[in-house]
This record gives sequence, structure tokens and C-alpha cells, in this order.
Amino acid sequence: MSSTMRGLPAVHRLLAEPAVAAYGALLGGGALTRAAREVLDGERARIRDEGGEPSPFAELIGRLLTRLAEEESAGLVAAVNAAGVLVHTNLGRAPLADEAVVEISRIAAGYSNLEFDLRAGVRGSRYERVNALLCEVSGAEDALVVNNNAAAVLLVLDTFAKGREVVVARSQLVEIGGGFRIPDVLRKSGCTLVEVGATNKTYVADYQRALTTESALLLRCHTSNYRIDGFTHEVSARELAELGHRAGVPVVEDLGSGTLVDLARYGLQGEPTVQETVAAGVDLVTFSGDKLLGGPQAGVIVGRKPLVARLRANPLLRALRVDKLTLAALAATLRIYVQPEALERIPIYRMLARGVEELEAMLNGIRLRLEGRVDAELRIVSTSAYVGGGSLPTATLPSRALAVRPRHGDAETLARRLREHRPAVVGRIEGSEVLLDARALRDEDLQTLHDALASTLAGA
Ligand SMILES: *Cc1c(COP(=O)(O)O)cnc(C)c1O
Repeated sequence: MSSTMRGLPAVHRLLAEPAVAAYGALLGGGALTRAAREVLDGERARIRDEGGEPSPFAELIGRLLTRLAEEESAGLVAAVNAAGVLVHTNLGRAPLADEAVVEISRIAAGYSNLEFDLRAGVRGSRYERVNALLCEVSGAEDALVVNNNAAAVLLVLDTFAKGREVVVARSQLVEIGGGFRIPDVLRKSGCTLVEVGATNKTYVADYQRALTTESALLLRCHTSNYRIDGFTHEVSARELAELGHRAGVPVVEDLGSGTLVDLARYGLQGEPTVQETVAAGVDLVTFSGDKLLGGPQAGVIVGRKPLVARLRANPLLRALRVDKLTLAALAATLRIYVQPEALERIPIYRMLARGVEELEAMLNGIRLRLEGRVDAELRIVSTSAYVGGGSLPTATLPSRALAVRPRHGDAETLARRLREHRPAVVGRIEGSEVLLDARALRDEDLQTLHDALASTLAGA
């Protein structure tokens, strides 16, 4: 053991501090010991990587208390998304509009008419209010909300296709992150997958030949995270809907992200909207609440009334239902879509609407305040940001990032320290720089980003 390592206190000395010991009753002795070991391990790693003296005892206690306070608050830590991916699943997908946040807190603290008809004084429907909004914004006849889009697909398959056949194009047998694979979901739902077409080309005739008396559904899946380019042919939603209607087989589309806005206005081509898909004649359309809709985690199903009625009658729905907070936030978000001029009240759309000059100005403000005060080189660079969350996998958004090159220590260490700051700051490393992308920043993140860099680089 080197002499600097010898300067570190023993675990039992940290645990003897009264402020630390007070956490024993809340978290248990095991959690305390584990947290103290982690703080000391982190300190050892820092000394090994960067050299220098061990931090003062009081600072180690401070770090340990921060860690314990986090554990006590169940561990979710607010983060600044400087990764340049708007709908970042690992960072909690879409941030909510202020209206949705207000609605959640208004409903959360008390009772509400969740399942109560105030006029008649009898039991009411939990979904009625949000369904009316969903029909209005999508143009569909009826709607249903479940826990997430994976649950929506599961409910559709269970209701219509258990023990029967589902026809899907080979090119659309997608695996979304987190192990959600269309072929596996079909099998798990007791359906038989009938693949049609080749990887690159599928025609209406391929679907037609696959139809039998056992066909329960024709399923289209949004290829959320890949593109098949080159020599290709795909059957459109309209063509498939026409075939389904001729054959008397319902057509379902899993849209994945499911935007209600034509993204061409933001320079992003080729993402079909929910309204277009409904208008094309698809019988049921499923999509997520927390991707490009910009709402809470939820799965939305919109479509034809008799089919939605069958979904509603499935006992499985009880296990997939959403709570009052989700419904409150979803309704508040959808109300913004009813007034199109208000769209940018949804954070994702405010981020999409920003020009690169605005992004540059945001970062320049931080750069000018930090320059000369931190031990790092700062410059603004052009980057490409992504929408993420299962939409437009190959489309990029022009963006700008603050590139930070520490004069002492390396980019990995700086990136780790920014992640350990509270709120956490998540950027990405390119060569010897940490890139902090402006595209997914909210206005209120700018001060946090400044403070995180100032404190992280002060002692570097
Ligand atoms: C994201 C996605 C899902 C899963 O949606 P969740 O809301 O995360 O359950 C399903 N299908 C497609 C095509 C997707 O992009």
C-alpha cells in the first residue's frame, strides 16, 4: 500500500460519524458499510488515476452523506441530458410539459373522480376523458390506454390472435431494446408467426398468398431502430388495409413512437403520423405515450370501435391498466395538441424547433462564464443529434456541443465526475474531449451545466 493510500480513513471511522450513523436506522448497517466502502474505493481510484493527496476527512463524509441521502430517496437522480438524443430511454424518455406536471401534482395529493360519474353519482369509466381527447387528435373512432406500447401489442395479440396466425413482413421482425422482439412476443402470446416477403422486398401478393382461414391479423411494425436501404419494396399501410378489408382480416400497425405532428417541419422526413395511419384505414394503431408524444409512459391503442370494444372486454386489461397520475399527465399533454400553436409547450418539440444559432448562443453563454476560470480548453463544435426512442433511426438533427478538454486528467474521468455531480450531467466522450450536446437541453439545464463544469473542473 502506498503512503497516500495509507492516509485514507478506515471504514469504521466513517461509520462512527454521528450524521452517518443516523442513517443506520433508515437503511440498515449493511447498506452503510457498502456505501462507505464505495466512497473509499472511489477515492482510491481517483488517487490512482490523477495522483494527489487523499481528500480531507470532512469531504469524504460529505460524499458518503450525499450517497446515503440518494439511497434514502429511492435512488432516482435528476439528470441533464447532454447526450444529444432527445428521446433517450436510459434517461427517462420524454420530459413532461409544465401542464402535465401541474396536473400530476393536482391529482396526486387527493381524491378524484377517476372511476366516478359525478353527475349520476355512480361508478364511471377511468378512461372516458382521455379517450375523447385521443379520438380528437388522432381522428380514430375509439381509443384505449394501457401501461406501455409493449402491453398494447400484447393485448391486441391476446384478444384477436391467440392460437391463430399473424402475418408479418420479414423486413419488419424488429427487436426493440430491452428484449422486446416481435417474433418472441408473438410466440409468447400463443400466436403463430407467418413471415412473408424477403428481407428487402415485400409485395401485397406475398401477404395475399399467406392468408388462410387461420389468419387472425395482418401486422405492420415500425422498423424503429434500423432502415433497409437500397433495392427495396414495402407494402404501404393503405395497401395492407385494403387487402385486410377485402379479406375480412383486421390490420394492425405498431407505430412505435407514434408522432401526432408531421416532423417534416423540423427537417425530418419519413416518420408517418398517427393520423395518417388511421386515415389509411388501419384498424388498430398502437404507440407509446413517452416517445414523440412527449407524455408519460403509456401505450395508446386507437382504431375502429368494435375492435377497441373487444380489447376493452379482455380480462387481461385489468393487469395492464394505468394509474390516475398517468391519465392526468396524458390528458394534459393531449390538450396541448388540441391547440396546435401551443405545440412547443411540449419540451421535445421546443428542442426540435431550435435553430443551431440558438443552440450555439446557449453554449456560448456557459463558455464565456467559465473561460479562464476552469482548468480546461472549451470550444463549440458542430454535432449531429438524434431523435431516438424508436423513430427515425438514421435521421440526424444539426446540433452544437460544448467540447471540454481537461488540461489535467482525462476525458473519461471528467465524464465520470459530471455523472457523479447532482443533478447528474450525461455527455459523451470523443477522443480527448467530453462533448456536451445542446439539442436536448432545457432552459433550466443551462445553469446546472455551468455549475457542474465549474465545480468539477475547479480542482482539476
Ligand atoms: C418503443 C417501441 C415499442 C415498445 O414501446 P414501450 O412503450 O417502450 O413499451 C414497441 N414497438 C415499437 C415499434 C417501438 O418502437
